[in-house]
Amino acid sequence: MNLEGFFNPQSVAIVGASRQKGKVGYEILANMLEAGYRGKIFPVNPKADEIEGLECYKDIESLPETPDLVVIIIPAKFVAGVMKQCAKVKAKSVIIITAGFREVGKDGMTLENEVIRIARQAGIRVIGPNCLGVIVPGNKLNASFGGDLPASGGIAYLSQSGALLAAILDTANANGIGFSTLVSIGNKADVDELDIIEAVAEDGDTKVIAGYLESITDGNTFVREAERISYIKPILLMKSGGTEAGAVAASSHTGSLAGSEVAYESAFERSGIIRCNSIKQQFDYAQAFANQPLPAGARVAVITNAGGPGIMAADAIEREGLTFAKLNEGTIQKLAEKMPAAANLLNPIDVLGDALADRYEYALDVVIDDNNVDAVLVLLTPQAMTESAKTAEAIVRITRQKPTKPVFACFLGAAKVREGVDILRQGNVPLYDSPESAVDTIEAMVHYVQWRSRPRRVVKLFGVNRRKVENIVERHLRQGILDIGEAESKDILEAYGFVTPKGAIATTADQAANIAQQLGYPVVLKIWSPDILHKSDVGGVKVGISSEQEVRDAFDLMMYRIPRKKPDAHILGVLVQEMCRKGKEVILGMHRDPHFGPLMMFGMGGIMVEVLKDVSFYLAPLTAQEAKQMLISTKTYKILQGVRGDEGVDIERIAEGLQRLSQLVTEFPQIKEMDINPYVVGSPGTTPIAVDARISLEK
Ligand code: ADP
Ligand code: MG
Repeated sequence: MNLEGFFNPQSVAIVGASRQKGKVGYEILANMLEAGYRGKIFPVNPKADEIEGLECYKDIESLPETPDLVVIIIPAKFVAGVMKQCAKVKAKSVIIITAGFREVGKDGMTLENEVIRIARQAGIRVIGPNCLGVIVPGNKLNASFGGDLPASGGIAYLSQSGALLAAILDTANANGIGFSTLVSIGNKADVDELDIIEAVAEDGDTKVIAGYLESITDGNTFVREAERISYIKPILLMKSGGTEAGAVAASSHTGSLAGSEVAYESAFERSGIIRCNSIKQQFDYAQAFANQPLPAGARVAVITNAGGPGIMAADAIEREGLTFAKLNEGTIQKLAEKMPAAANLLNPIDVLGDALADRYEYALDVVIDDNNVDAVLVLLTPQAMTESAKTAEAIVRITRQKPTKPVFACFLGAAKVREGVDILRQGNVPLYDSPESAVDTIEAMVHYVQWRSRPRRVVKLFGVNRRKVENIVERHLRQGILDIGEAESKDILEAYGFVTPKGAIATTADQAANIAQQLGYPVVLKIWSPDILHKSDVGGVKVGISSEQEVRDAFDLMMYRIPRKKPDAHILGVLVQEMCRKGKEVILGMHRDPHFGPLMMFGMGGIMVEVLKDVSFYLAPLTAQEAKQMLISTKTYKILQGVRGDEGVDIERIAEGLQRLSQLVTEFPQIKEMDINPYVVGSPGTTPIAVDARISLEK
């Protein structure tokens, strides 16, 4: 979407401009002037003739021309009126700074809806309400009351919290960090996070997109678009905001284990978004992504003037799963030519405590050329002879001469390194306050590069009997039955290629004995009632029954006991089922997230699933790799592979089961949540059995 009117307006009207210092209506006008905005500014205020030397207008309709951008700061109840005027003069872009809309409750919501209705009708795009405004340093535009105009730079920032944006701006200004654009999206009644991300993705000045979000307006579109944009530019997001409605009243294991956080995690991973947990971490990452080339691999070289920090960096490299670069023989020889005898020429390269800038410069110049090195971290501690400023200059010089590999600096200390720090900042070398945060940033870049070069996502489609499932689902919905029982859940699963145990329902002990006879012993008896979710909890599952007498006893016991435990449950009989051979019990499940759609779950199954909580999630539809990755990311995986002489199970068959389930829930949006628990899996080559299943529908 084109947001030029917001980012590069030739004229700006400020409705609610004020003469009174300290009022938002004054601060915005002052910020516009102070930033050195080159277009026309039209203050609108019926009670003033002139503010800060600018002619004042009584309303939008009296302006000499239609402004490209209108900024509104008057009380909420008057905003709809101004929007009507904007429509009349055919203005196209409006920022509503004013608060007192949706965020204050029902009345505010009504006002907001009215304002947006007028805007939509007139084709006006709106940022806000309840926001801080828009800042574009390159265009000298500060249509905000967030603070001083920051430097130009490669970071685009969007924030759902105005206050947080003000804090970020202040931090950035104190540290000379530059931006291409800053947008406070407020209540995002019209323009939302995705509109901004799409717009800055197209913008040549933006190298990295960063932001703070509390919610995402349209999860599915967001994932799809963010995935496309992440290939072009990295997206770094902080996301807060607790659990939302939707996770409540889950009847499946998957539903009760999945919170909205899990869905966000999965959506971010899928779309390549790099999640940041703090403002500091986001700045750490953003600086590097905005100013440095991406590393080609994970091999890191460290140059230091002290042993301790070098070891700290080495530990962090190991912890983060990066590789400690092994230098080429040629590099080591070259280093030896100019380094003192006591210097360590192996990674971490210790240039020693008395190193002046020239030794650092030589080492960096040589190491950066080594084809076994993908990234260089330069550590400096302020020792007696250390030249922090000159060393910083040297680092900046080398990164300019050899801009193909990323370089990261960590100058430890404060007062003694201040000058060097400023030089690095101005020279666009990312700077860290600890070896760990530098390494954490390198890891984020490596991860992003890996994400970008992953194979294209291919979702396999299995041959299934879709018609059969359609019939079952439609019939249930027609009858208003939302929970599909075990028997028909199994019909559905069989239609999608799952194997389930044979069995039939008995209403008398004689019948049960007959069915058992036909199935062959051992058998399993299970209570059969649409009102009993978890059968074991009420003594409704008896396994390992090996004679007719045991069948009769178990039948009688269940029919006697369970109605007393659950007087309201409608009991239809007892399911007599063949007993599966021994295997490991896993759970395959799906919970439909209100924002992101079907969220698949895998984990250690059986009756302990909610106690152990060893589960992993990913958004459907799953590729083979994603299904496999879900398995790998649980602790159960090790057990499934086989431990201590115990034979492993058929991993590929489990991953296939997840893919089949993912196809089912993608093809049937009516399925709200479901579990196969347990999915009993055996050694490689054997067929997994879906022993128990539950499916809930929604209209
Ligand atoms: P629920 O989850 O409602 O309590 P299940 O049908 O999942 O009932 O049965 C509980 C447990 O009993 C399973 O996790 C599994 O260990 C065992 N079990 C159930 N049916 C069979 C079967 N046909 N073969 C082998 N074990 C079974
Ligand atoms: Mg079960």
